[in-house]
Amino acid sequence: MSSRAASVSEKAQADNYFCEVPNDPCAIVMFGASGDLARRKLLPALYDLAIHACLAPRFRLLGFARTEMTDDAFRDEARESLSKDGAKGNEGTLDGDFLKHLQYFSGNYDDSEAYARLGRKLDQLDQQGGLGGNRLFYLATPPEVYPRIVEQLGKSGLAKPKTKDSWARIIIEKPFGHDRDSAQELNQRVLQVFDESQVYRIDHYLGKETVQNLLVLRFGNGIFEPLWNRNYIDHVQITAAESLGVERRAAFYESAGAMRDMIQSHVLQLTSLVAMEAPATFEATPVRNEKIKVLQSIRPYREDIVAKSVVRGQYGPGSVKGTSVAGYREEPGVKPRSSTETFVAMKLLVDNWRWSGVPFYLRTGKRLSQPETEIAIAFKRAPHVVFHGEAVEPNWLVLNIQPDEGISLSFGAKAPGSQMHIHPVTMDFQYRRAFGAGSREAYATLINDCIRGDATLFDRADSVEAAWALVDPILESWRNDPAPPFPNYAAGSEGPRAADELIASEWRRWRPLA
Ligand code: NDP
Repeated sequence: MSSRAASVSEKAQADNYFCEVPNDPCAIVMFGASGDLARRKLLPALYDLAIHACLAPRFRLLGFARTEMTDDAFRDEARESLSKDGAKGNEGTLDGDFLKHLQYFSGNYDDSEAYARLGRKLDQLDQQGGLGGNRLFYLATPPEVYPRIVEQLGKSGLAKPKTKDSWARIIIEKPFGHDRDSAQELNQRVLQVFDESQVYRIDHYLGKETVQNLLVLRFGNGIFEPLWNRNYIDHVQITAAESLGVERRAAFYESAGAMRDMIQSHVLQLTSLVAMEAPATFEATPVRNEKIKVLQSIRPYREDIVAKSVVRGQYGPGSVKGTSVAGYREEPGVKPRSSTETFVAMKLLVDNWRWSGVPFYLRTGKRLSQPETEIAIAFKRAPHVVFHGEAVEPNWLVLNIQPDEGISLSFGAKAPGSQMHIHPVTMDFQYRRAFGAGSREAYATLINDCIRGDATLFDRADSVEAAWALVDPILESWRNDPAPPFPNYAAGSEGPRAADELIASEWRRWRPLA
């Protein structure tokens, strides 16, 4: 065991992951610290990094929000959410040491005096704690507040690194804009204050182990990449299914819908990773350059293509895992005649040498029968049927992103017996079984990357805008064309019939939600 391994907590050793070298000391200023995301995701992610020896022993977390709160009250809230999250320290109890690093700062997001006080507070923390002037600003407020915070960070001088050896970075939560114009405007405002190299636009899907493993699978193995093209692949299915409804986020969801909330961000990110060419190195600029080329190669959605290739749906009442649930229009905070889509299925074509003629079928929805995110690659069938009368299934390579992270490959095997019957079987790799329980939460991975200054898994200004440029014409077409009669699928089903017809019209079918 290395001396570093011996010095980390038993928890970190048991999970079989810890940072060999702790990150730079820094102050993390979390705007919107009183909110849902901070409680449910960000505090647990930082706690996870702390107990796995990734945060420098001297880090400080400063919660910033309008709600008046003392440091102790903020720590109590953090303790409660960490306990709920099941985040435990060495002996099965919360490691209270983490809480000592938390402080709270109350202020209005557009009050320049509050930012002057924040600056003084950060200077004081630097002097007391030797933080080296390093600052990470995390925007976890509703998106309409982002421009005001960015402007104030600029005016107060906090956006600039304090010294030539320190850094200042900003993580901006999704959604980044509401359409291409608003994303462009937000980019302009952010880039008036920060340099692009300081900006980390987060999409937490990219922090998931299996998503990153897709790149290792493709580019770190000799057997897959030679087959990864139109000569061998029949089609690709990308599914991001949720069994949950709109939960507490109705106000946001009503103005977003599945196209903005899922397709524009997570699902197009996954598509880019499946379809991209090998980057020269696994560093931010080469990886991002290859990803944006995919977005730029996707056939644009003209109005006639939208009508043929994109299906929208909205759930009605139904039953999920044996429990009766309300329809979308009956959810609290949703308009009784809402035309917001909670489901999208679409066909996408990537017009380049690698993918020409290979359809990508994308599907996402709320209140479906099972929660499941997967990328499924269907290879072409064997061209020559040697075994008369036997229907040969295509080989599937399936990357399960959630809930059970892993990869499986299906192929035909001879079923035992005197007859030549072909039976599909699978080879399975499961993350948990192979590597134990140490798979890290996506937010922890991404915050860690940002502190290390690695932007590979974050979005660049041009690719956010390119993703909006793709979906904007679909949204525009829907605005001009009244929604189909909603609701058009029952909660707990696999989506509207029109989605099945979309893929069946090309002699294919969706993989069942497992
Ligand atoms: P919240 O609605 O919980 O807001 C966070 C905090 O921002 C609130 O506690 C409040 O703090 C402040 N706030 C709320 N509304 C306003 C307003 N109108 N004007 C100024 N301040 C306001 O948001 P979430 O925590 O759910 O989300 C934060 C960001 O993260 C959003 O951009 C969201 O889209 C994104 N996100 C959230 C996810 C989630 O699961 N929650 C998932 C993915 C992304 P105070 O009043 O104390 O200032």
